[in-house]
Amino acid sequence: MTDPARPDVAELERVELEQTLEALGARRFHARQLFRWVYRKGVVEFDRMTDLGRTLRATLAEQVRVSTPEVVAKDVSTDGTTKFALALGDGRRIEAVYIPDLPRQTFCISTQVGCAMKCAFCLTGKMGLARNLTAGEIAGQVRVLARELDLLELPFNIVLMGMGEPLHNYDATMKALRILADEHGLAVSPRRVTLSTVGVLPALERLATEPLMPNLAISLHATTEDMRERLVPVNRKYGLKELVDACRKFPLKRRSRITFEYVLLDGVNDTDDDARRLVKLLAGVKAKVNLLPLNEAAGIPFGRPSDARVDRFAQILTDHHLTVMVRKSRGRDIRAACGQLIVEGPEKSPAQRLAGLMNGN
Ligand code: SF4
Repeated sequence: MTDPARPDVAELERVELEQTLEALGARRFHARQLFRWVYRKGVVEFDRMTDLGRTLRATLAEQVRVSTPEVVAKDVSTDGTTKFALALGDGRRIEAVYIPDLPRQTFCISTQVGCAMKCAFCLTGKMGLARNLTAGEIAGQVRVLARELDLLELPFNIVLMGMGEPLHNYDATMKALRILADEHGLAVSPRRVTLSTVGVLPALERLATEPLMPNLAISLHATTEDMRERLVPVNRKYGLKELVDACRKFPLKRRSRITFEYVLLDGVNDTDDDARRLVKLLAGVKAKVNLLPLNEAAGIPFGRPSDARVDRFAQILTDHHLTVMVRKSRGRDIRAACGQLIVEGPEKSPAQRLAGLMNGN
């Protein structure tokens, strides 16, 4: 077993890796080679890194390690969406999802084990927060999925919409994005990354000052303070009006817009009045709206509106010149859809897991 006290290459940005190598008596430029092996080629065994000298490979094998989430289960949906259960070094499990939309495929990754935000329509929220992921565990999901799916050489998008609230684990999330953006690694441009948040305002203000800025998606889900407090409890701390005001001021590049996600719950937040209030609320914000008819699941006390209701809601928004997307749900048969990520315990057998998936719980 690898010694957990050794520096973990997966947790290091390239400049930190250069310092680590220097401390081991190696040259700094080897960091570039290591990044290429680990991120571009998906190789983590030092003895396979053939452009490193034999002595350096032996030193690395003795002195450092590369932690990598382990794929413990993989469920492929009829639409090609693939949900990966990944085991971390401490045995905890997270989920990451591959969505095979063309031309750009997308990885939906997690930032925490569970989530503290307790949104009323979300299975992950029901788990509570077990712990934050490290930067290496966040970036590691991308590395593992790209390797498993043979996409290391191809462009892909990343959405931080898996388990957890990214702005509740700010430092690790931003460090992971810097690691993923490294030109000697996967070189994922921040333009290809979308960070989705319920709106942790102090962290949102910090995000506004980041040199490496991902696209922003806000999980809005309601048009009144009361309803949002019911659906997204963090609204008690950071209210709807304050949140939308912060979005109005958020620095955006030319032509870019903030995506507002709105889960449609039958008879709860899907009325014509809600749609009209949403139009008013977003006045003056460079916004587009992503409507998400609920993915029903056992344990979630809401229903999915009819298609006619969804269409009517969308129509009111487009009549008022808002750009609207109605998200088709991906991977519902394997419970990989938004708000449905929850890890089954390692104690479950494959047969039990399958039964759980078929029952939708
Ligand atoms: S919707 Fe997102 S922020 Fe809310 S509980 Fe679920 S994972 Fe957490």
